[in-house]
Amino acid sequence: MGTLQAVTGMNDVLPGGGDTRRWLRLEAAFRDVCARYGYAEVRTPICEYAELFHRGVGEATDIVEKEMYTFEDRGGRKLSLRPEGTASAVRAAIEHAALAQQPVVRWAYLGPMFRAEKPAKGRYRQFHQVGAEVYGDPSPAADAECIDLAATFIRSLGVGPVSVRLNSLGGADTRRRYRDALVAYFTPLADRLSEESRARLARNPLRILDSKDPRDLPHKAGAPSILDALDDADREHFEQVKAFLTATGVPFTVDPTLVRGLDYYTRTVFEVVDVSGALGAQDALGAGGRYDALFTELGSAQPVPAFGFALGVERLLLAAPDAPEPQRFTVSVVAAAKAGDTPVLAAALGLAKELREAGVETLVDTRFVSMKSQMRRASDAASRYVLILGGDEVAKGEVTLKDLASGEQTRASRAEVIARLRAESSAQGSAPR
Ligand code: AMP
Repeated sequence: MGTLQAVTGMNDVLPGGGDTRRWLRLEAAFRDVCARYGYAEVRTPICEYAELFHRGVGEATDIVEKEMYTFEDRGGRKLSLRPEGTASAVRAAIEHAALAQQPVVRWAYLGPMFRAEKPAKGRYRQFHQVGAEVYGDPSPAADAECIDLAATFIRSLGVGPVSVRLNSLGGADTRRRYRDALVAYFTPLADRLSEESRARLARNPLRILDSKDPRDLPHKAGAPSILDALDDADREHFEQVKAFLTATGVPFTVDPTLVRGLDYYTRTVFEVVDVSGALGAQDALGAGGRYDALFTELGSAQPVPAFGFALGVERLLLAAPDAPEPQRFTVSVVAAAKAGDTPVLAAALGLAKELREAGVETLVDTRFVSMKSQMRRASDAASRYVLILGGDEVAKGEVTLKDLASGEQTRASRAEVIARLRAESSAQGSAPR
């Protein structure tokens, strides 16, 4: 058997080159913004009964039709790796009666999602999303606040320029009326549409507006606008979302062709697109909207208004500038002893542990090779100080401290050295790796 590799479209994130550091930073930035907006983190399993997504995402969507990783477990139950986070979060909110404890629930999540798409730059089979959801608040202010959260987080990463596209799909009646209007418009043109759009005409005509096929573009342009089909209450809601967004300072453009691939949206939908060109064809950073019918669709006895979004982590990282590696304060303990000299090596490990407990990042070359190569490793690791321990130091309870910047060497008691390094380390603070 040849060398084993990761599954196609699923990637490792490695510490070298700062990759893991960029991920940790992004996750910390997301948690920070969510905390400031009052959104608490929820963690759901990456695997659910397949039925959840059939009901929650919709049968006639690409995700459910073609992209889900669905399999039978040992008990013959049909499970799916989650293709998105909203259905799971709503399932959890219903299962744990989250709304019985408070009238409005604000949740955030982050983690891997799975879709069997054709891998490309910015499109993977395991990818990651960060998302936020607000349950129990039907007001347009909730829509605006959640969109503002997404925009604020994206801005905090230094990603840009981005464009926020906004639309309203209206309520169920509007959708039905608009669907009929689209079918009436596209049916006489069916011969000229792409095969995919022709298939959508029967099953999910709104999705024709998503098409990027050149054969569909001229016909899309003349299609009726959903904004003309909104009823008075939908229109009022949309006007208020726009007013609140303007008040929060989030720039947006209204795009009546934005329909989104998922079935569960009602009224407001939005998408954030990177317009810098850094992402090529996969330029959508994230999207979301209102989904007032999803709770009842998933079995809630009470209807619960809801709004949420999800952003793609890999795409945010592709679009975000690479911040310089933060300066970290680390020290190295070097044992001036041969391999068999257990008391000195044990003292070196003991000193490292005390320093670590004092909050100081401390490296030890546990191979205990020659002093020269231990010193080289300390300098490669950009240690600020080297702490040298030989038999004499151990006998006297002392440490030789070498400042790698100045080359200066001093000797002092263990306690003194630890106190000094603890102070220097905490004065520098520490940044995520
Ligand atoms: P969606 O759940 O389809 O609305 O997607 C929301 C965001 O998740 C997209 O805008 C992308 O940034 C990201 N995303 C969706 N699918 C993928 C994928 N296969 N690979 C990488 N990112 C994805």
